[in-house]
Formats: sequence, C-alpha cells, structure tokens
Amino acid sequence: MKTSPNILLIYTGGTIGMVKNFETGALTAFDFDELLLNIPELKQLDCNIETISFQEPIDSSDMNVERWKELGNIINTNYENYDGFVVLHGSDTMSYTASAVSFMFENLAKPVIFTGSQLPIGDLRTDAKENLITAVQIAALQKKGKPIITEVGLYFEYKLLRANRTTKINAEHFKAFQSLNYPTLVESGVHLKVNTSFLHTANRRKKMVYHTHFDNNIVIIKMFPGINEEILKSIFSSEAIKGIIIETYGSGNTTTKKWFLNIISDAIRKGIPIINVTQCAGGSVEMGKYDTSIALKKAGVISGKDITTEAAVAKLMYLLGEKLPLKVLKTIYETSLRGEMSEN
Ligand code: ASP
Repeated sequence: MKTSPNILLIYTGGTIGMVKNFETGALTAFDFDELLLNIPELKQLDCNIETISFQEPIDSSDMNVERWKELGNIINTNYENYDGFVVLHGSDTMSYTASAVSFMFENLAKPVIFTGSQLPIGDLRTDAKENLITAVQIAALQKKGKPIITEVGLYFEYKLLRANRTTKINAEHFKAFQSLNYPTLVESGVHLKVNTSFLHTANRRKKMVYHTHFDNNIVIIKMFPGINEEILKSIFSSEAIKGIIIETYGSGNTTTKKWFLNIISDAIRKGIPIINVTQCAGGSVEMGKYDTSIALKKAGVISGKDITTEAAVAKLMYLLGEKLPLKVLKTIYETSLRGEMSEN
C-alpha cells in the first residue's frame, strides 16, 4: 500500500513569517502557528506535514554556529521518522546555513529543502506561498518509495538549486538567489521538471554521519586595490585566527607586492590554512594561470576552485572543527565533499 511521505517543516524565522511592528515600522519574526494559518493550501498536499519551530524565531542576520547546530539537531533527531525536511529561513544568510547543513550531514539520503520569501506570508503579493508549497512538494517527490532529492537544496522563485552552490544576489527581486557554477536541479512550471543527471545520488548502504563541530575562528579578507599592509598585518597577527579566506580577483589573483606575499607565507608557515576564492559570481580559481597567482600556489594557498564564499566559510569551519593537520586539510578542502565544487 502506498503511504504519503512524511515531511517535517522547520521554522527558523525570516521574512516569510514576519509582521510589521507598529511602533518601529520594522519587520519582526512572529508566531509559527499564525504562519500556518495563512497557508491552508498545505493541507491539500499529498503528504503528511508536521511542524517544529525554533523557540525564538530569528532574522537570519542573527544566525551563528550555535543556531546551525540547533537546526542540525532537529534534523538529526527526526532523521529516521521523516522522508524529507523543509527549512523556512531568512534569505539573507540562507546560503551560509544551507551550506553548513550540507557539511553536517555526510551520506545524506533524504531531501533538506531550504526556502523563505522576500515578502511576508500575510502580504497580498507574497512570494511565500509558492515557495513554501513547491518546496514541500519537492521534498515529497519519491520514486519506488524513496526520495528523489537526496541533498540539501534551496528553492526560490521556481527553481531548486544545490544549496551549497547558491548566493543571494538581490535584496528586492523575487529571484533572489543564483547558482552560476552548477545547473538548476528542479524547475517549477506547469510540471516539476527534475534534471535527474545533476542530482546527487545517495549511497544508501552508507550510514548517515552527523557532524557538529564548526570552528568559527576564521576571517574573510576581500582584496581591493589599495589594500593596506598595516591593517592586514594586524588582522593576520591575531592569536585567535585559525583559518583565512581571501576573496581574490578573477581566477584567483592578488597583488604581487612582496609584503603581501610575505604575510601569506608566514601565516601558512604557522599552520594557518589560507583559502583562495574568487570575488566573481561565476567561474573558478586557477592558481598559476597568471603571474599574479603563481606565488600563492607556491606558498601553499588552498584553491577554493569554483566554490561560493558562503560554502567556503562553512567548509573551512567544518574542516577546522575536524582538527586535521594542514596538509590533510588542504587535500580535503580541494576535494568536493558535498558537490560544493567542481572536481577539476
Ligand atoms: N532579513 C531577513 C532574514 O534574512 C530577510 C529575509 O527573510 O528574506 O531573516
């Protein structure tokens, strides 16, 4: 007998469930039950939906490592009892959290679909209803009783993207996210078009492993013309820093000034991993393509290849949390773990 899939809907906060505070005029997170009252359509879907909410829903700008764990724990505790998970999350840091969750769950064999909205659910022109309803439908997609999506996805404005490939690109448009380095997984039109060849295939014989140690002693340095030696030196000399991401120009280029290269090699000599990611929305780091990146490669800078900055942050925190020797961390960082970077 065919049974309907069981979906757990997890509310963390974000615009989707916000209302206007009449005193300040600002949007504030509100009660989850009220949110559900606004979408009676959910009851018509061919799946059983249960809900759970963060005790205090938050604007996603307040997300941090502890909140990632709170979310991870909800999914992990309920992993065996549900066929899929839908996470309602603010769009501002959704790509960071969703990337982090992708690293938390090794050998994931069920869908974890993040969604949210640009307008609150109570708003007449809201994008929340379509996003939420389709996200649930995607999480409930099955073939021969098994989930079709077996990875962490992000659904927004008619597209399911691999979550750790996404970036928020627009603060106003309904099409708020893009994934320039990896194709769309599912397109929503009259039908749901699943691009099967781009989906991650789960190895169901392997047990799911849950990881929770994120080390947030890291910093992102964005290159810009005129970057200042004294300021960089003072950042790099912090005792707290355990990992650094440099957002470089184009295919991984930086200034070739001696003082800059010295700062980089000194840090690596001290055992601090330095990750090279591009500032460009699309394309990949290719150290050695230009003179301006040969020295970085020689110094032992780690290539982030075509990873997004959001996924780079989550991956660095995750691998630092695993307490690996620098050489091992470099090899693993340059390998795709959850489809977050291209293999070459
Ligand atoms: N500031 C909100 C948040 O990220 C924006 C949104 O939900 O889209 O929580």
